[in-house]
Amino acid sequence: MPPPFAKVKIQGLYGLPKSHTQVTTAVLDSVTDYFRRHRGRVLGVTGAGVSVASGIPDYRGPKGTYRVYGGYTPILHHELVLQHRSRQRYWARSFFGIRPAFLAKPNSIHFALADLEHGGYLNGLVTQNVDGLHIQAGSKNVLELHGTLKNVRCLNCDHTESRADFQKRLEELNPSWVTYFRHMAESGEEPARRPDGDVELPPTLQYDDFEYPTCDQCHLGHYMPTVVFFGGNVADHVRSRSFEMVDGADALFVCGTSLATFSAYRLVKHAREQGKEIMIVNLGETRGDKDATAKLEASAEAVVPPVAAALGVSV
Ligand SMILES: [Zn+2]
Repeated sequence: MPPPFAKVKIQGLYGLPKSHTQVTTAVLDSVTDYFRRHRGRVLGVTGAGVSVASGIPDYRGPKGTYRVYGGYTPILHHELVLQHRSRQRYWARSFFGIRPAFLAKPNSIHFALADLEHGGYLNGLVTQNVDGLHIQAGSKNVLELHGTLKNVRCLNCDHTESRADFQKRLEELNPSWVTYFRHMAESGEEPARRPDGDVELPPTLQYDDFEYPTCDQCHLGHYMPTVVFFGGNVADHVRSRSFEMVDGADALFVCGTSLATFSAYRLVKHAREQGKEIMIVNLGETRGDKDATAKLEASAEAVVPPVAAALGVSV
């Protein structure tokens, strides 16, 4: 059941500015028409805003700046590749921080987008999210632009294994850390979590004794999560595929993202250069606002599930 329109609460969601468009029946009708007009030729582009309701935090604000967690900088790609100490710190924090990501469940937006694909309205999704929730919700044609937290891959030989299996190996290697984190969990302390599986632990904590395995195929390389970290690059084949998906669509439906990362924004730019219709639904300013043919200042949650319901594709 979609939420009653009059009671949709938009103001203050995600801690963003108060300016917003009221999601009226007329607004929802126009989004519904958009999908009807471009049936089967709409490409969805999603970001962190879609997963907030699943408990995955969003660390970018309206202008792509880091917000709320003053001073927090996500781990950088080159640090993880080059520095043993950075890897110890990353894996120790991720060892603890990954658990909620394993447990996160898709929300009404993920399900509605999957329904729109099954119902023949959406022909695919390009997501910046690394949580795997679109696939878990049943979306089929999904390109994970920044990879997925579900796997780790050897930097030397590309051997890939599941993050869940890797977690078991970390547990075996670090019994004292298992105890430490168990005590922390039991104490009710809830450290701030990051979308990349990182977690804020006490600044005085030392990670010197945290052990992580090298690759069990080549016995040389280090594992890295199969995600694009800040400072890393989207793989060529992923970038090409993302452009192909835009080429194969007549219209873009962008939701729950400020398009702060260039890898996502350039898809909007590419679509605009081809004269395609671009609808953006996001609470807060986005980098693509000037390129959009329609911008709806609203949360994806207030729009996508009711539209899927109106199109009769909700299951
Ligand atoms: Zn290897």
